[in-house]
Amino acid sequence: MEINKDLNYIAGNILALSIAQKYENAIFCNCEVDEDGFYIDMDLGNESISINDFAKLEKQMSKFTTGAIKLEYYTLQKKDALIVFKSNSYISETIKNKNQDNILLVKINNNDFPSISTTINNSNEIKAFKLLNVGGSYWQNDANNKQLTRIRGVAFNNSKDLDNFLVELQERIERDHRTIGKNLELFTFDLLSGQGLPIWLPNGAIIKKQIRNFLSELEFKYGFENTYTPVLGNVELYKKSGHWDHYKENMFPLMKLDSEELVLRPMTCPHHILVYKKKQYSYKQLPLRLCEESMLHRYEHSGGLTGFERVREMVLEDTHIFCTPEQVKEEVFNCYNMINEAYEGLDCSVHQIDLSLHDPDDKEKFHNDSKMWEVAENDLRDMLKEKKIKFVEKVGEAAFYGPKIDFQVKTALGRIITMSTIQLDFLLPKKFEIEYKNQNGEMKQTIMIHLGVVGTYERLLSILLEQTKGILPLWLAPRQIAIIPVSNDHHLDYAKKINNLIRKEYIRTIVDDRDERLSKKIRDAQVSKIPYQIIIGDKEIESNTIAVRKFGQEDTTSYKVSDFIKKINEKIKSKSLN
Ligand code: ZN
Repeated sequence: MEINKDLNYIAGNILALSIAQKYENAIFCNCEVDEDGFYIDMDLGNESISINDFAKLEKQMSKFTTGAIKLEYYTLQKKDALIVFKSNSYISETIKNKNQDNILLVKINNNDFPSISTTINNSNEIKAFKLLNVGGSYWQNDANNKQLTRIRGVAFNNSKDLDNFLVELQERIERDHRTIGKNLELFTFDLLSGQGLPIWLPNGAIIKKQIRNFLSELEFKYGFENTYTPVLGNVELYKKSGHWDHYKENMFPLMKLDSEELVLRPMTCPHHILVYKKKQYSYKQLPLRLCEESMLHRYEHSGGLTGFERVREMVLEDTHIFCTPEQVKEEVFNCYNMINEAYEGLDCSVHQIDLSLHDPDDKEKFHNDSKMWEVAENDLRDMLKEKKIKFVEKVGEAAFYGPKIDFQVKTALGRIITMSTIQLDFLLPKKFEIEYKNQNGEMKQTIMIHLGVVGTYERLLSILLEQTKGILPLWLAPRQIAIIPVSNDHHLDYAKKINNLIRKEYIRTIVDDRDERLSKKIRDAQVSKIPYQIIIGDKEIESNTIAVRKFGQEDTTSYKVSDFIKKINEKIKSKSLN
């Protein structure tokens, strides 16, 4: 839903005006508009505003909007504007800091506000609005400054748009991976452990392990071999790879240890090159395909950290292929198939495939070697065309060292993100002088392909949670079955017996033996998004069966335990979507 900046700016001012009517000591500090509507910061002195006050504030705002107040825009010289706002230290400070001589103001109902240039001339152009939330903020976003009250709202010129926006907003809240992660106890952060450093809780760790097993099987199938290499490296390694020159601001600082200088690694490529260099390869022994569950550290600005989506420590299934020029096309096609197979298992669909090319005019952003670019870009383009894969060419989107194929995925909230990449690299092999012996016994430069099958585990989890609202497919669900005895006195023993039988098959169960009412236990299993509930009462014990209830359904089905286990195992194995 598109936010009308002008309309929302004026709505923010009208909110400030409404607050001033109800709270006589309130001082208006500033008004901003972003993609979610408007927000204003107020200094309320000793008073406070809660969402319980929204109805009366909205009523007051309605008086102003339906009152058809004409807006008068006018410009004053900076010194004169400062006189208008002399009793408001916040606005005075803002005006003083402005790098302009003339200040635009707007008069609404005899009150002056600093303004932006808008197309709104009358308050009645605001036809629909809603206050959304209230929280704290600091003047100029500096925690050393005074704490203010921030109120958010949104305005439209018709009520239908407002209704649509509120539906969208609710959807966004329900799909926010941070909320789902907290409710389902998947992950957390702790400032004592460090900002942006993810802590996977037991439930989250199960999901990670399942994905890891799934990717391991794929890697095995596509001929990858596993390595384990250190999480940090001698800075000389990253000087040689070029990361230290080009990527330093995204890396953690140096650690001095004895005579070495070490850094936490931001990627695994140089280590995999060292693995390659331990042996001499002939063309017959290539390709060499390496994979590693690799912990990486990258410096993200604290303002950019967002739940599991942007973190400072991440685990990437990092894979590299070393091959001859003749093998490139086939290897890239294998990578393409592998990514598609991963998407099938994870129920993701490709929105678009980009062929990211260099911009020949940009000598700074791209390694300067036009011959190299021509060969590499043609290889990728030819492969895509030969295999009849639909793609879009994007000039200027390549990596510094080579072209790539990017898999774009559309998230449940409509964002387009790059989830997987296949990158050709002629540059790192050159820097590290990695070679192979060709048919004629000559030494030739090896080619390197970087493959990111599904990105980091952290980001993948955030996407999965957003897509599924936390209702994960059976094979990924941390707890697959909740076993609920109707009464602990009469049915718990049988429930435990069933539990033992099912757990023997490595199916993840819990027995809910809390002294709670049956209806509460069923509701809690639903809230925890557990795919199946087994309910045990007298009838089940007498007939030696179980009553099974699927997530989101009301009715139960009776099963023999062995039949149910068989059914569940088949579903897990086929990665079916419950
Ligand atoms: Zn790499």
